[in-house]
Amino acid sequence: MAENISLDILGIAAHPDDIEITCGGFLIKMAKQDRAVGAVDLTRGEMGSFGDENDRDSEASAAAKIMGLAYRGNLGMTDSAIEVNQPNKLKIAEVIRKTRPELVVLPHWTQRHPDHFACHRLGYDACFLAGLKKIDLEGEPFRPRKIIYVSYFRNTDYTFMVDISDEFEQKCAAVAAYKSQFDDPQNARRIFQPGVNIYDFMRIRARQLGQLVGVEYAEAFTVREHVLIDDPQKMPVSSI
Ligand SMILES: [Zn+2]
Repeated sequence: MAENISLDILGIAAHPDDIEITCGGFLIKMAKQDRAVGAVDLTRGEMGSFGDENDRDSEASAAAKIMGLAYRGNLGMTDSAIEVNQPNKLKIAEVIRKTRPELVVLPHWTQRHPDHFACHRLGYDACFLAGLKKIDLEGEPFRPRKIIYVSYFRNTDYTFMVDISDEFEQKCAAVAAYKSQFDDPQNARRIFQPGVNIYDFMRIRARQLGQLVGVEYAEAFTVREHVLIDDPQKMPVSSI
């Protein structure tokens, strides 16, 4: 990272395109509200079956533009072999110190891909370590105020949903920037799950999550702490 930048929100993910597929709508929505939004990918996706890391670099930049990100970084960890160790935690902690986000978005802990779980663990620990004054790390101590965990499809313990009805098509456009992964309909089917096109999958899932809260499309998030509400009478989503 060349210079410091002050972000409101930082998404952390294992592979280029994880951010877009899981919480792209939320990040686009925040960027549209003039929040400074950024993302850091831990690997360059070099183990992916299609394309190579150079393709993924340029695709990630194109997707960042479509989403309106103010920053996108890549930490160059080893794809499909991300280790939960102190050096990797400190690499992320350094990004946190340099970008100073109030809110961090991490993968939920229930995961199929080991890298996604590793990212969850590394990301939480990095948020903690970044705030320690005495740790041997560049930059001023800083700890994000809030961490939210975005669903990667396997968990159902959602705390809240974000309405992405107005951002859904832009989210699809950001995913489509990964031409090496999703341009060829054959690849798009094979990579994700047999017989399911990535765009169909995203639409069905966002629609289903949206249906749970009475909107067209939504993305799902979990928090570990309790949610404080001033006025339950005004809580959205009717009970009956
Ligand atoms: Zn991934």
